[in-house]
Amino acid sequence: NVNKAIVIGSINMDIVAFVKEHPKVGETVFGREVKYFPGGKGSNQAVACKRLGCATLMIGRIGEDAFGEQLLAFQQQEGIDTEGVRRLQNVSTGTAFVTVSDNSENSIVVIPGANSVWEDEFPDNVSIEAGDLVLAQFEIPDAAIRNAFEKAKACGAKTLLNPAPIRPIEPDIHNLTDMLILNEHELAALSGLTVDVDSTATIFAAAEHLCNLGYRTVIVTLGAKGIKLIHHGNRHSITARPVMAIDTTGAGDTFIGGLAAGLLSGMDLLEATKLGNAAASISVTRQGAASSIPTIDEVHNILGT
Ligand code: ADP
Repeated sequence: NVNKAIVIGSINMDIVAFVKEHPKVGETVFGREVKYFPGGKGSNQAVACKRLGCATLMIGRIGEDAFGEQLLAFQQQEGIDTEGVRRLQNVSTGTAFVTVSDNSENSIVVIPGANSVWEDEFPDNVSIEAGDLVLAQFEIPDAAIRNAFEKAKACGAKTLLNPAPIRPIEPDIHNLTDMLILNEHELAALSGLTVDVDSTATIFAAAEHLCNLGYRTVIVTLGAKGIKLIHHGNRHSITARPVMAIDTTGAGDTFIGGLAAGLLSGMDLLEATKLGNAAASISVTRQGAASSIPTIDEVHNILGT
């Protein structure tokens, strides 16, 4: 039995309208084009885990509508086990309405829909094995994360929390989290300290503050400045790979997928972090979120491994 990544999180359809200029309130404008992209941090991380080489199971919620059907089909095409994805009646599939103007400014409305509707219990057709990794983000309710993490810990699995978009971490979830993965903004918000990406001291001070609250492993992603992490009290820095970045959407999700896939393949934390770093560096050279996530073969290619 191979160990797997179990991703519990959001599944969205991202509807992107491309316009010359954003409409003002009350105004109607004609846009150029509309595109539909599978999204949601949960789904993106599941895609990243799978493409980067590990067996992956998704736990999520969609509505009984056309978007739900398309998103389910998309995950299945990716080879993700969708046993844990439930289709709910009378609620829409999560949807993000994105407007992008010619000068690349975004405005976004997110309707969580089914992503915010969870029963308390963990899906009984999903089993967690010792050695599995359970990954969660903050686009679903705390109760769902708490239940999944409780089950994970009881089964001997490790838990990875990516607290994005940021909100306070409730004590139960805090106590059940093995690894915290966050960016500089989330680090500043959670630590209450000033974080300057150009100051290693401020980053490690804030990360150490979180370690003192009980997290054994804190990984901070810093965009083009790479990654800093503290693991069992030891500090490590990993530089970003020099690339021509054109779209950093989904970089964090790609990193997390690579990290999880690396850990599940038996790498130690630093090796797995480097794998995630390399995967994310490829994703920023391409447009889109899920569409920009590389395969493990592409990562081996650029690493020469
Ligand atoms: P988030 O989108 O969650 O804020 P980051 O922007 O920190 O995530 O990016 C996650 C990771 O993606 C970084 O730690 C790095 O490995 C990689 N990355 C992001 N931007 C770049 C870049 N401009 N060049 C190279 N790698 C990048």
